[in-house]
Amino acid sequence: MMRTNYRTPAIDAEICRTCKKCQARKSCKLKAIVQFESHELPYIDRELCRGCGFCLDECPFKAIKIKQ
Ligand code: SF4
Ligand code: SF4
Repeated sequence: MMRTNYRTPAIDAEICRTCKKCQARKSCKLKAIVQFESHELPYIDRELCRGCGFCLDECPFKAIKIKQ
């Protein structure tokens, strides 16, 4: 069954350590995690993200969360 209401995760700026290279970024096959510059706060492109949740466990600081 197709999912119709994707819940896009968000990166919590309070928790994110703005890593040189966001380690969660490479886990997203859709390249929905965007970080242009090193040490920049990444963000999740809502147009690309499909809410699979794979990235949630890839951030060592648990900065990526799906809001309920
Ligand atoms: S989301 Fe996680 S892995 Fe990515 S920059 Fe922030 S702390 Fe680092
Ligand atoms: S939930 Fe899935 S599609 Fe969305 S940013 Fe994370 S890994 Fe990418």
